[in-house]
Amino acid sequence: MDKHTILEKQRSYLWPNYLLYYTDPLPLERGEGLYVWDVEGHRYLDFFAGILTTSVGHKHPKVTEKVKAQVDKIVHTSTLYPHENAVMLAEKLAEIAPGRLQQSYFTNSGTEANETAVLLARVFTGNQEVIALRHGYSGRSALAMRLTGISSWRVGGTHVPGIKHAPNPYCYRCPLKLTYPSCGVACAEAVEDVIKTSTSGKIAALLAEPIQGVGGFVTPPPEYFKIVAEIVHHYGGLLIIDEVQTGFGRTGTYWFGIEHWGVEPDIMTMAKGIANGFPLGNTMTRPEIAESMTTAGLSISTFGGNPVSTIAALATIEVMEEEANPQHVAEVGAHLRQGLDHLYEKYPVIGEVRGMGLMQGVELVKDRKTKEPAPEAVNMLFEETKARGLLIGKGGAYGNAVRVAPPLTATKEHVEEALESLTTRLPVFRRR
Ligand code: PMP
Repeated sequence: MDKHTILEKQRSYLWPNYLLYYTDPLPLERGEGLYVWDVEGHRYLDFFAGILTTSVGHKHPKVTEKVKAQVDKIVHTSTLYPHENAVMLAEKLAEIAPGRLQQSYFTNSGTEANETAVLLARVFTGNQEVIALRHGYSGRSALAMRLTGISSWRVGGTHVPGIKHAPNPYCYRCPLKLTYPSCGVACAEAVEDVIKTSTSGKIAALLAEPIQGVGGFVTPPPEYFKIVAEIVHHYGGLLIIDEVQTGFGRTGTYWFGIEHWGVEPDIMTMAKGIANGFPLGNTMTRPEIAESMTTAGLSISTFGGNPVSTIAALATIEVMEEEANPQHVAEVGAHLRQGLDHLYEKYPVIGEVRGMGLMQGVELVKDRKTKEPAPEAVNMLFEETKARGLLIGKGGAYGNAVRVAPPLTATKEHVEEALESLTTRLPVFRRR
């Protein structure tokens, strides 16, 4: 189908509130490795990986082969019947997940994984209230939108009770107007204030992303999560860590983002990059916490952990171990960071470069002193990079963050190619 027809049918038959990237939206047709092609045959270097999802690149032969073989056997069983792929994947996840996280509950998306996590924390602790962070993103159900801390993503999701927000560890724009490290990581201590003043004093959980994804790759100072974990446990809650974006080596060195700071979550959620694009969500916890659900009532997920998605996840993890392990991500990520830091030195429109591994954010500002956000510069950068055949992502509570996050199979050569597109006389960087 030609581009014009696709866009016309999109307008006629899909809801108008889908967020589409680019003023002239980009219907994609196929992908291979780090590249995708649109329906008109133009090739793009994919440095957003379908929102940090195609962990080992598009159409990886090992993933494709195993998925095809599974489709020929059986595609659906429902969670009423145990399946080899689901148990093998759960066993593998127990091996790579931090600490004592051992048991999985499979669903189909990050939203469901977070819903399941909050339900579990409420059942286990007997408490109801949950703390989330400002600028966080948790998904698109009513509860997940309520957990989300960015107003534009929570329309219609504000009437769910029992959720309170704490300031996020956003050093570049400190919500407490302090400076790290002399602040003493006051944003972490602020969690205690929120619990003491805005809840009954007993919480079910605190839910947070190690690096806030949609929030624009906001990266906390190293002490943050240790302090927060202690506070959460002191007030009877569980620590839910949302690894939907940061999981599976994305941040380099470790399989999961939270491991950078030596903190063990009580519950961990994952989706996106787990299965290279096949729908799969997962909520992991320790057996004694999961046990509490057996008396809570019945539970089912029709599509959750289906044989196709779970074999895709197993194959994806296998490929990551072979050619894109967390160490590889750390190395290629450092190369990417070096290039972006170089751009920072050259162009005042860049206010900050932050992130870890292959999850690097670039915040654009009108002026480095005032830090006034420049979302229109991000839009310009989008059009200019698209014209040069490079796909990137955006985000941030102020719409002014660029998200650079290629498949984890990216090499230094791919990074060079992306940096070349970013540096070659881009008008957005040169304007005053
Ligand atoms: N948590 C985080 C951190 C996310 O980034 C997202 C998706 N952007 C979700 C949860 C929700 O995942 P999904 O879109 O698969 O429901």
